Amino acid sequence: MADLAINGGRPVRRTLLPYGHQSIDEDDIRAVVDVLRSDWITTGPKVAEFEEAIAHYVGARHAVSFSSGTSALHGAVYAAGLTSGDEAITTPLTFCATANCVIYQDGTPVLADVSADTLNIDPEEIASRLTPRTKAILPVDYAGHPADLGPILKLADQRGLVVIEDASHALGAEYEGQRVGAVSHMTVFSFHPVKHVTTGEGGIVTTDRAEFASRLRLFRNHGINSDARLRQAEGQWFYEMVALGYNYRLTDIGSALGLAQLAKLEMNLARRREIAGRYEVAFSSLAGVIPPRPRVAVKSAWHLYPIRLDLPSLRFSRAEVFAALRAENIGVNVHYIPVHLHPFYRERFGYKCGEYPHAEAAYESLISLPMFHAMTVQDAEDVISAVEKVVAYCRR
Ligand SMILES: *Cc1c(COP(=O)(O)O)cnc(C)c1O
Repeated sequence: MADLAINGGRPVRRTLLPYGHQSIDEDDIRAVVDVLRSDWITTGPKVAEFEEAIAHYVGARHAVSFSSGTSALHGAVYAAGLTSGDEAITTPLTFCATANCVIYQDGTPVLADVSADTLNIDPEEIASRLTPRTKAILPVDYAGHPADLGPILKLADQRGLVVIEDASHALGAEYEGQRVGAVSHMTVFSFHPVKHVTTGEGGIVTTDRAEFASRLRLFRNHGINSDARLRQAEGQWFYEMVALGYNYRLTDIGSALGLAQLAKLEMNLARRREIAGRYEVAFSSLAGVIPPRPRVAVKSAWHLYPIRLDLPSLRFSRAEVFAALRAENIGVNVHYIPVHLHPFYRERFGYKCGEYPHAEAAYESLISLPMFHAMTVQDAEDVISAVEKVVAYCRR
């Protein structure tokens, strides 16, 4: 049996393969340079063009861009009308920004456990956490697999709640034949470099409701209302600040990069699906490893490829398997440390271990394998060889 690199053997790869990485090519660079040579570098024509392109791609009426996915989440929580003392229900198995944005508006994030198969928020758990103060539900499309949106929207409609979908992982995913971005009341995407499309830093909210779109535009620009009729009546210099907002604007530089990236999205999604297909074939018959199994009603965008270890059948802990894979030069990661286990959340809300058993059990056994569209077939084969090598060594 091949010696593990962690025990001094030869690693499967000579160089580290990261878990995710951006791809920037010459036409991306040209698009950015063109903007740098133009009259507008911050909020100009490219921002509007990018917003229209995203709205068109997902099939929503409006898209409002932001300086990051996090500020877009903050804007969506504001647009939903959430204020002091209100509650919003979200998943513990996410990046902390999904829950933080509720606290930014002085609300309380309430966590509801995930379903054991998809690791997305469980609609029945949401139902059990509703109170008269609940204002919004924030499902996350974990790893690119759309959340259980049908039941969640039904629940929201019965109770008059707003569904803000955190689709940071899911640009290009589909739920029952519809693109993510056109399903929930508001959908948030991130354009961080590890996501499907990047603007450097950036984010966007898509929605069909004009009222949400105008509140989002107000919020990202200091709460300033630049109503054309008022300018006509009072003078061209006139504007009014009507709410407390922020400078959360995306730039033309970022938007030009986003437009060039968006043109390659379908090709990149196909590449991710191909890699996921290879992983599925290799891992579905490998004892000790449980690969993700998308539900039939969805098409995942495969932002991540999180496998779970069948720990009772292995002699190694997750930490040991993780270290062994890193030694083989496979840049594995873990998504996510559950939100309620972070010191800030424990201290502020009194959370304890054991409150969200599905999320916590998943966390104990999760490992994200490399998944990005610039990976080659050989890269994917290296990942498979390394997982097979490590798991074979530590199987009971
Ligand atoms: C990336 C990400 C965010 C935040 O996006 P930024 O653009 O980095 O602010 C929020 N939620 C999830 C689930 C993410 O993966």
